[in-house]
Amino acid sequence: KEEVNIISGALDLRKKTVKDVMTKLKDCYMLPINSVLDFETMTEIVKSGYSRIPVYEGTRTNIVTVLFIKDLAFVDPDDNTPLRTLCQYYQNPCNFVFEDATLDVMLKQFKEGHKGHMAFVQRIEEGDGDPVYETVGLVTLEDVIEEMIQAEIVDE
Ligand code: ADP
Repeated sequence: KEEVNIISGALDLRKKTVKDVMTKLKDCYMLPINSVLDFETMTEIVKSGYSRIPVYEGTRTNIVTVLFIKDLAFVDPDDNTPLRTLCQYYQNPCNFVFEDATLDVMLKQFKEGHKGHMAFVQRIEEGDGDPVYETVGLVTLEDVIEEMIQAEIVDE
């Protein structure tokens, strides 16, 4: 029974898109790049429980890099390090994907692995002028795998 579910889940990867499984931008835990890594902010980051945190400049749709929790290992909260300094040091790249990309394509991209297991989902806004890309959410390998096994993965 479970095997049948997994196989049908795997077959469905070609029908579902990243938009169907993403975490919407409004629900994402993110940090503005002008944050200061003081005790309060670092406590909040750890409490959020996420291992990767998108960092934006100005507006939340303008994601410029990703902070990994492990990047905080050598940060002393008493130093009040600007987040920007840490981001410039690590320069973690962002991975972008269009909202209509199917999950089999997304899985393949995650498996190749050079850009990590998180991607930012973009929509093309067709206006009067040039089309503009708008970031609408994020998707991780876990979101794709949950769809494949048709079950929730309970985080540790
Ligand atoms: P983590 O390693 O932080 O637990 P996962 O890749 O296991 O993240 O993803 C778990 C779920 O949390 C997924 O549904 C993913 O879309 C969502 N998620 C991951 N990072 C964030 C974040 N910074 N803010 C909100 N949701 C997130």
